[in-house]
Amino acid sequence: MSRPITPNRKSSSLVVLGGRAPSAAAGSVWLVGAGPGDPELLTIKALKALGRADVVVHDGLVSDEILALAPSAARLINVAKRKSRHTLPQDEINRLLVAFALEGLTVVRLKGGDPFVFGRGGEELEACRAAGVEVHVVPGVTAALAASAGAGAPLTHRGSAQAVTFVTGHAAHGDPDLDWTSLAHPNQTVVIYMGLTTAALIAERLIGAGREGSTPALIVVNASRADEQRIATTLAGLAAAADGMKGPALLMVGEAMALAASFETPAAQAPQDDELSNRHGEERGLSRASRTTHGGAA
Ligand code: SAH
Repeated sequence: MSRPITPNRKSSSLVVLGGRAPSAAAGSVWLVGAGPGDPELLTIKALKALGRADVVVHDGLVSDEILALAPSAARLINVAKRKSRHTLPQDEINRLLVAFALEGLTVVRLKGGDPFVFGRGGEELEACRAAGVEVHVVPGVTAALAASAGAGAPLTHRGSAQAVTFVTGHAAHGDPDLDWTSLAHPNQTVVIYMGLTTAALIAERLIGAGREGSTPALIVVNASRADEQRIATTLAGLAAAADGMKGPALLMVGEAMALAASFETPAAQAPQDDELSNRHGEERGLSRASRTTHGGAA
């Protein structure tokens, strides 16, 4: 059981908002999933919560287009939770949310994807509950769903993917602590979040535990965003394919990822600058790759 949190002097001083008197009315915290980046993948519930926000506390994965949907009077606070670029430690974020709510404010904690999928939303929920602060959770489209949909590669597929497992490739000390034997079984999809820098190790462990090197694999960077990139490869080719890639990325390994290959076009993998800028202007939210694919299917 965690101890009730009482905002200390330091965190109280953080919540003095310019000219705003503390309110007697109870505030609340909304843990809101912003989805993978495309504003059209925001839920209506998330949009409504954002529209009521006095304060939006967001991480680095939330796109500018989504932040632009917050009321102009709302205060935006970036707590940039990108790996090795933490601006605020998690307990400070927890205290901040609680302190704002105790001031009577409606706080939207906006997180990339879903708040409860590698989002540390559970810790924020516990902190709010322990402090007696009203807290709500609004789910979001987690990156794996957008990456799979964009690539036309289903996470489960009759005959080739009986299960899907989301794991983190992030390793605090050396190896990610994963059950390689279980993940090496065929006919399942393994989606690795935060695995770009550990791709070589992950591939080695999976192959070492018996997964075929020829198992289809997919890397999706910036899923659902204008600059989405996809590379179809194999488990044996995963490390080479990941080399030099940057941005939020998923590694997806499994027999059903073979369906992505037939969906790809060379143009989808090599966006031209002029087309990218057109897309920004005309079709906000539709990734170039998916636009290409839609065009091809029409
Ligand atoms: N709560 C988020 C995950 C946060 S962990 C969710 O549900 O999606 C951060 C990791 O998520 C990134 O390192 C990356 O692996 C993945 N990620 C988040 N957004 C992504 C995107 N648009 N495209 C690809 N991967 C993404």
